[in-house]
Amino acid sequence: MEECIFCKIINKEIPSYILYEDEYSIAFLDINPINKGHTLFVPKKHFERISNIDDEYIKNFYVSFTKFLKLFEERMSKDYNIIVNNGKKAGQAVFHAHIHIIPQYNENGYKN
Ligand code: 5GP
Ligand code: ZN
Repeated sequence: MEECIFCKIINKEIPSYILYEDEYSIAFLDINPINKGHTLFVPKKHFERISNIDDEYIKNFYVSFTKFLKLFEERMSKDYNIIVNNGKKAGQAVFHAHIHIIPQYNENGYKN
């Protein structure tokens, strides 16, 4: 996928702040965060939307996701929203499947 911005991030052709990476997925900070630590969790294989991820890939992707979430809870925040915008009318702007993880902090801004 030559023109896909997330494939370029995966291939390190454009820079990003990477929090986690394994064979199946990568997590990096969103360039336009809703909240401090807003992270995108992305399959390394190009699928246009989350519902397109094939049966074989989804197993490893989900194992990888829960590994990442445990680290995220330890290091970033225990409380967060998980959001997927699936399709243009739902707000999807980048057509490489991704999951938004948006940390929520207490009123002082400290980690939960
Ligand atoms: P969507 O609206 O498709 O669910 O979310 C796409 C997200 O990707 C947006 O929150 C946007 O800020 C983020 N994004 C778009 N281009 C880049 C980029 O080049 N680098 C990073 N780190 N995030 C990006
Ligand atoms: Zn892609």
